[in-house]
Amino acid sequence: MTTIADRLAIAQQRIIEAAQLCGRNSCEISLLAVSKTKPIADIIAAYDVGQRQFGENYVQEGVDKVQALKSTCPDIKWHFIGPLQSNKSRLVATHFDWMHTLSREKIAQRLNDQRPQDMAPLNVCIQVNISAEDTKSGVDIAELSQLATAIANMPALRLRGLMAIGTATADSELQRQEFTQLKQAFDTLKQSFAELDTLSMGMSGDLDNAIACGSTMVRIGSAIFGERDYGANH
Ligand SMILES: *Cc1c(COP(=O)(O)O)cnc(C)c1O
Repeated sequence: MTTIADRLAIAQQRIIEAAQLCGRNSCEISLLAVSKTKPIADIIAAYDVGQRQFGENYVQEGVDKVQALKSTCPDIKWHFIGPLQSNKSRLVATHFDWMHTLSREKIAQRLNDQRPQDMAPLNVCIQVNISAEDTKSGVDIAELSQLATAIANMPALRLRGLMAIGTATADSELQRQEFTQLKQAFDTLKQSFAELDTLSMGMSGDLDNAIACGSTMVRIGSAIFGERDYGANH
Protein backbone atom coordinates (compact mmCIF):
# COMPACT_ATOMS: atom_id res chain seq x y z
CA MET A 1 0.00 0.00 0.00
CA THR A 2 1.31 3.44 -0.80
CA THR A 3 1.42 5.99 1.99
CA ILE A 4 0.78 9.72 1.94
CA ALA A 5 4.54 10.23 2.14
CA ASP A 6 5.02 8.03 -0.96
CA ARG A 7 2.32 9.85 -2.93
CA LEU A 8 3.66 13.24 -1.90
CA ALA A 9 7.09 12.22 -3.20
CA ILE A 10 5.52 11.06 -6.46
CA ALA A 11 3.69 14.39 -6.84
CA GLN A 12 6.94 16.27 -6.22
CA GLN A 13 8.61 14.12 -8.85
CA ARG A 14 5.81 14.90 -11.34
CA ILE A 15 6.44 18.60 -10.75
CA ILE A 16 10.17 18.18 -11.37
CA GLU A 17 9.59 16.21 -14.56
CA ALA A 18 6.96 18.60 -15.90
CA ALA A 19 9.32 21.51 -15.26
CA GLN A 20 12.22 19.75 -16.97
CA LEU A 21 10.09 19.00 -20.02
CA CYS A 22 9.50 22.69 -20.64
CA GLY A 23 12.88 23.98 -19.50
CA ARG A 24 11.71 25.53 -16.23
CA ASN A 25 13.36 25.31 -12.83
CA SER A 26 11.10 23.32 -10.51
CA CYS A 27 12.03 25.68 -7.64
CA GLU A 28 9.65 28.18 -9.25
CA ILE A 29 6.71 25.88 -8.58
CA SER A 30 5.28 25.26 -5.15
CA LEU A 31 3.06 22.42 -4.13
CA LEU A 32 -0.10 23.19 -2.21
CA ALA A 33 -1.45 20.03 -0.57
CA VAL A 34 -5.25 20.15 -0.72
CA SER A 35 -6.50 18.38 2.40
CA LYS A 36 -10.24 19.14 2.19
CA THR A 37 -12.44 16.38 3.65
CA LYS A 38 -9.31 14.60 4.96
CA PRO A 39 -8.56 14.00 8.65
CA ILE A 40 -5.94 15.81 10.72
CA ALA A 41 -3.82 12.63 10.79
CA ASP A 42 -3.38 12.90 6.99
CA ILE A 43 -2.18 16.48 7.29
CA ILE A 44 0.30 15.47 9.96
CA ALA A 45 1.57 12.60 7.78
CA ALA A 46 2.40 15.11 5.03
CA TYR A 47 3.76 17.64 7.53
CA ASP A 48 6.12 15.03 8.99
CA VAL A 49 7.82 14.66 5.62
CA GLY A 50 8.21 18.39 5.13
CA GLN A 51 4.96 19.65 3.55
CA ARG A 52 4.10 23.10 4.91
CA GLN A 53 1.40 24.54 2.62
CA PHE A 54 -2.12 23.17 2.89
CA GLY A 55 -5.34 24.14 1.10
CA GLU A 56 -8.88 23.90 2.42
CA ASN A 57 -12.21 24.54 0.67
CA TYR A 58 -14.79 24.68 3.43
CA VAL A 59 -14.55 27.51 5.92
CA GLN A 60 -15.56 25.76 9.13
CA GLU A 61 -13.65 22.58 8.36
CA GLY A 62 -10.59 24.66 7.56
CA VAL A 63 -10.83 26.74 10.74
CA ASP A 64 -11.20 23.58 12.85
CA LYS A 65 -7.99 22.22 11.32
CA VAL A 66 -6.10 25.49 11.72
CA GLN A 67 -7.00 25.55 15.39
CA ALA A 68 -6.29 21.87 15.99
CA LEU A 69 -2.79 22.15 14.50
CA LYS A 70 -1.84 25.60 15.77
CA SER A 71 0.49 24.43 18.53
CA THR A 72 1.87 21.21 17.01
CA CYS A 73 2.46 22.53 13.47
CA PRO A 74 2.78 26.31 13.90
CA ASP A 75 4.64 26.85 10.62
CA ILE A 76 1.89 25.57 8.33
CA LYS A 77 0.71 28.12 5.78
CA TRP A 78 -3.05 27.76 5.32
CA HIS A 79 -4.64 28.56 1.97
CA PHE A 80 -8.37 29.03 1.54
CA ILE A 81 -9.29 27.79 -1.94
CA GLY A 82 -13.06 27.33 -1.84
CA PRO A 83 -16.02 29.54 -2.64
CA LEU A 84 -16.56 32.16 0.07
CA GLN A 85 -19.86 33.70 1.11
CA SER A 86 -19.49 37.19 2.49
CA ASN A 87 -20.98 36.26 5.89
CA LYS A 88 -18.05 33.86 6.42
CA SER A 89 -15.30 36.26 5.40
CA ARG A 90 -14.23 37.03 8.97
CA LEU A 91 -13.27 33.40 9.59
CA VAL A 92 -10.97 33.47 6.56
CA ALA A 93 -9.54 36.87 7.50
CA THR A 94 -8.67 35.71 10.99
CA HIS A 95 -7.35 32.17 10.34
CA PHE A 96 -5.78 31.88 6.91
CA ASP A 97 -2.53 33.05 5.29
CA TRP A 98 -3.81 32.96 1.71
CA MET A 99 -7.10 33.26 -0.13
CA HIS A 100 -7.16 32.05 -3.76
CA THR A 101 -10.74 32.60 -4.80
CA LEU A 102 -11.31 36.32 -4.58
CA SER A 103 -13.63 37.53 -7.31
CA ARG A 104 -15.73 40.31 -5.75
CA GLU A 105 -14.67 43.70 -4.51
CA LYS A 106 -17.22 43.55 -1.71
CA ILE A 107 -15.58 40.44 -0.25
CA ALA A 108 -12.12 41.93 -0.71
CA GLN A 109 -13.23 44.97 1.29
CA ARG A 110 -14.62 42.80 4.07
CA LEU A 111 -11.43 40.70 4.27
CA ASN A 112 -9.38 43.89 4.39
CA ASP A 113 -11.52 45.36 7.16
CA GLN A 114 -11.59 42.10 9.14
CA ARG A 115 -7.91 41.15 8.93
CA PRO A 116 -6.49 41.50 12.45
CA GLN A 117 -3.82 44.18 12.72
CA ASP A 118 -1.35 41.86 14.40
CA MET A 119 -1.40 39.45 11.44
CA ALA A 120 0.57 39.87 8.23
CA PRO A 121 -1.50 41.03 5.26
CA LEU A 122 -3.67 38.27 3.77
CA ASN A 123 -2.12 37.02 0.52
CA VAL A 124 -4.76 36.94 -2.20
CA CYS A 125 -5.19 35.65 -5.71
CA ILE A 126 -8.00 36.75 -7.97
CA GLN A 127 -9.94 33.81 -9.35
CA VAL A 128 -10.42 34.09 -13.10
CA ASN A 129 -13.00 32.26 -15.15
CA ILE A 130 -11.12 30.56 -17.97
CA SER A 131 -13.38 27.59 -18.32
CA ALA A 132 -15.31 26.83 -21.47
CA GLU A 133 -18.14 25.75 -19.17
CA ASP A 134 -20.14 28.72 -18.03
CA THR A 135 -20.66 27.34 -14.55
CA LYS A 136 -17.24 28.07 -13.08
CA SER A 137 -16.82 31.01 -10.75
CA GLY A 138 -14.31 33.81 -11.08
CA VAL A 139 -14.08 37.14 -12.85
CA ASP A 140 -13.88 37.52 -16.58
CA ILE A 141 -10.51 38.63 -17.90
CA ALA A 142 -12.06 41.95 -18.95
CA GLU A 143 -12.88 42.81 -15.30
CA LEU A 144 -9.52 41.83 -13.91
CA SER A 145 -7.74 45.14 -13.98
CA GLN A 146 -10.49 46.97 -12.13
CA LEU A 147 -10.63 44.42 -9.31
CA ALA A 148 -6.82 44.27 -9.06
CA THR A 149 -6.65 48.05 -8.71
CA ALA A 150 -9.21 47.99 -5.90
CA ILE A 151 -7.36 45.23 -4.03
CA ALA A 152 -3.99 46.92 -4.47
CA ASN A 153 -5.37 49.85 -2.47
CA MET A 154 -6.34 47.66 0.49
CA PRO A 155 -3.47 47.64 3.00
CA ALA A 156 -4.43 44.44 4.82
CA LEU A 157 -4.47 42.46 1.56
CA ARG A 158 -1.45 41.61 -0.54
CA LEU A 159 -2.28 40.83 -4.15
CA ARG A 160 -0.08 37.92 -5.23
CA GLY A 161 -1.55 36.79 -8.51
CA LEU A 162 -4.25 34.82 -10.28
CA MET A 163 -5.95 31.49 -9.77
CA ALA A 164 -8.14 29.36 -11.99
CA ILE A 165 -9.76 25.97 -12.09
CA GLY A 166 -9.46 24.35 -15.49
CA THR A 167 -12.29 22.47 -17.11
CA ALA A 168 -12.31 18.87 -15.92
CA THR A 169 -11.44 17.21 -19.21
CA ALA A 170 -9.03 14.63 -20.56
CA ASP A 171 -8.53 16.91 -23.57
CA SER A 172 -4.96 18.06 -23.09
CA GLU A 173 -5.26 20.65 -25.84
CA LEU A 174 -8.24 22.31 -24.12
CA GLN A 175 -6.39 22.29 -20.78
CA ARG A 176 -3.45 24.07 -22.36
CA GLN A 177 -5.65 26.61 -24.13
CA GLU A 178 -7.28 27.59 -20.85
CA PHE A 179 -4.02 27.74 -18.90
CA THR A 180 -2.38 29.78 -21.64
CA GLN A 181 -5.23 32.26 -21.44
CA LEU A 182 -4.64 32.68 -17.72
CA LYS A 183 -0.88 33.02 -18.17
CA GLN A 184 -1.42 35.77 -20.75
CA ALA A 185 -3.81 37.59 -18.43
CA PHE A 186 -1.21 37.27 -15.66
CA ASP A 187 1.58 38.69 -17.83
CA THR A 188 -0.63 41.59 -18.88
CA LEU A 189 -1.61 42.37 -15.29
CA LYS A 190 2.04 42.22 -14.22
CA GLN A 191 2.75 45.20 -16.45
CA SER A 192 0.70 47.29 -14.00
CA PHE A 193 1.40 45.26 -10.84
CA ALA A 194 5.04 44.19 -11.03
CA GLU A 195 4.99 42.53 -7.60
CA LEU A 196 2.66 39.71 -8.70
CA ASP A 197 4.44 36.36 -8.36
CA THR A 198 1.80 33.66 -8.16
CA LEU A 199 -0.08 31.79 -10.84
CA SER A 200 -2.19 29.23 -9.00
CA MET A 201 -3.24 26.65 -11.57
CA GLY A 202 -3.10 22.89 -11.96
CA MET A 203 -4.60 20.05 -9.91
CA SER A 204 -4.01 16.28 -9.74
CA GLY A 205 -5.33 15.69 -13.24
CA ASP A 206 -3.78 18.58 -15.12
CA LEU A 207 -0.71 19.76 -13.22
CA ASP A 208 1.69 18.77 -16.01
CA ASN A 209 -0.06 21.00 -18.55
CA ALA A 210 -0.44 23.80 -16.00
CA ILE A 211 3.32 23.78 -15.37
CA ALA A 212 4.03 23.76 -19.10
CA CYS A 213 1.86 26.89 -19.33
CA GLY A 214 3.57 28.77 -16.49
CA SER A 215 1.95 27.72 -13.21
CA THR A 216 3.89 28.68 -10.07
CA MET A 217 1.60 26.85 -7.61
CA VAL A 218 -0.18 23.57 -8.18
CA ARG A 219 -3.02 22.55 -5.86
CA ILE A 220 -2.91 18.79 -5.41
CA GLY A 221 -5.45 16.83 -3.43
CA SER A 222 -6.44 13.34 -4.51
CA ALA A 223 -3.01 12.41 -5.93
CA ILE A 224 -1.61 12.83 -2.40
CA PHE A 225 -4.47 11.99 -0.05
CA GLY A 226 -6.51 9.63 -2.22
CA GLU A 227 -10.04 10.02 -3.54
CA ARG A 228 -12.36 12.11 -1.42
CA ASP A 229 -15.48 10.75 0.20
CA TYR A 230 -18.01 13.55 0.27
CA GLY A 231 -20.18 12.65 3.23
CA ALA A 232 -23.27 14.40 4.47
CA ASN A 233 -21.24 17.33 5.75
CA HIS A 234 -20.38 18.73 2.33
C1 LIG B 1 -10.31 20.10 -4.57
C2 LIG B 1 -9.52 21.17 -5.22
C3 LIG B 1 -8.23 20.95 -5.68
C4 LIG B 1 -7.55 19.59 -5.63
O1 LIG B 1 -8.14 18.75 -6.58
P1 LIG B 1 -7.52 17.30 -6.91
O2 LIG B 1 -8.10 17.00 -8.24
O3 LIG B 1 -7.98 16.40 -5.84
O4 LIG B 1 -6.06 17.45 -6.97
C5 LIG B 1 -7.54 22.01 -6.22
N1 LIG B 1 -8.08 23.24 -6.31
C6 LIG B 1 -9.33 23.48 -5.88
C7 LIG B 1 -9.87 24.86 -6.01
C8 LIG B 1 -10.09 22.47 -5.34
O5 LIG B 1 -11.33 22.75 -4.94
